[in-house]
Amino acid sequence: MKKKSIIEKAEKVIAATYKRPPMVIKKGKGCVVWDTEGKSYVDFVAGVAVCSLGHAHPGVVKALCGQAKLLFHVSNLYYTIPQVELASWLVENSFADRVFFCNSGAEANEAAIKLARKYFNGNGEKGRYRIISMERSFHGRTMATLSATGQDKIKKGYDPVLEGFDFVPFNDAKALAGKISSSTCAVIIEPVQGEGGVRCPDPDYLKKVRKLCDKAGALLIFDEIQTGIGRTGKLFAYQHSGVEPDIMTLAKALGNGLPIGAMLAKEHVASAFGHGSHATTFGGTPVITAAALEVLKIIAEEKIVDNCSRMGAYFMKKLLWLKSRHSSVREVRGIGLLIGMELDVEGEPLVNKCRERGFLVNCIQGNTLRFVPPLIIGRKEIDALVNCLDEIL
Ligand SMILES: *Cc1c(COP(=O)(O)O)cnc(C)c1O
Repeated sequence: MKKKSIIEKAEKVIAATYKRPPMVIKKGKGCVVWDTEGKSYVDFVAGVAVCSLGHAHPGVVKALCGQAKLLFHVSNLYYTIPQVELASWLVENSFADRVFFCNSGAEANEAAIKLARKYFNGNGEKGRYRIISMERSFHGRTMATLSATGQDKIKKGYDPVLEGFDFVPFNDAKALAGKISSSTCAVIIEPVQGEGGVRCPDPDYLKKVRKLCDKAGALLIFDEIQTGIGRTGKLFAYQHSGVEPDIMTLAKALGNGLPIGAMLAKEHVASAFGHGSHATTFGGTPVITAAALEVLKIIAEEKIVDNCSRMGAYFMKKLLWLKSRHSSVREVRGIGLLIGMELDVEGEPLVNKCRERGFLVNCIQGNTLRFVPPLIIGRKEIDALVNCLDEIL
């Protein structure tokens, strides 16, 4: 099928929930993707912080195909090897003791919300079910996770949303102190806000959040769906803060593009989930967990997180140079390879011009370009994008 007919067909048969540019992506390798006309693009979106090892990584392909030949799926009625190995890796490399696998970020947060409520319900504190979330947060699109999301545009038209969610501004410990109470079961927070505009916590803010949770007896949930698996220059973003959560959710980069989510928790919390209290058909299925395990092994063996730190610092320096040259750049924020560049103009025309010149970038909140390239990105690609932005601006 030719590009034009694919797009025409897509506009007829696919739900109109996405506005897409007039191109069809056919293949990818490393940091580059190609469209059906053979034009190449350096990918600074990476499936929105998903393909951290780049496209078609041979190690991941091998693990996926190897497991596909052995066993696809048998449901969670049975033990399987890759699931246990992946959970062990995550437990050994994080604060957590147990893992629940699912298929997406929203499902991971859904599990976290359910676990937090169940934990207190089971402890005889039935009235403790409220969850405090942050303004401008993003936690997903299911009913519970959109109810937990601090952006009106995500909730519009879906009333009534779920009861029991309160909101305070991000980076405002005083506001949290004023809201948290004996009816709060958990505080849910992204250690760095992603969709909300790439917003980093002030030093010590997350420590204060941890203290407030401890004082009120509430659980702390870190949504690391976007920040997890190396994106910020540490394996998990909470490792920058010196505090650990009780529950953490992962998804995006965990499978390098294969659908997987995970909810991790400390033992005393995780034990609130007994037999039959939560479940999924596909979560933790052998093919996906075998591939995800290989993703984690490669990230560790090839020191991908170190590259992320180095390239993140380099990229940041270059973008600050851009800011010094162009008054339309209002602010550059971020950590590691999760970087936002806020403009005082609409971002979409820039996104389109970048694409015409062979670069995929993403725009959030209308005026902020978000750069989340594969963590294997190099100086050459960063220089090329920055020069392109310099010309466009
Ligand atoms: C992407 C994202 C989600 C939702 O993940 P899905 O897989 O799209 O359901 C939740 N929280 C954060 C922080 C995210 O970035």
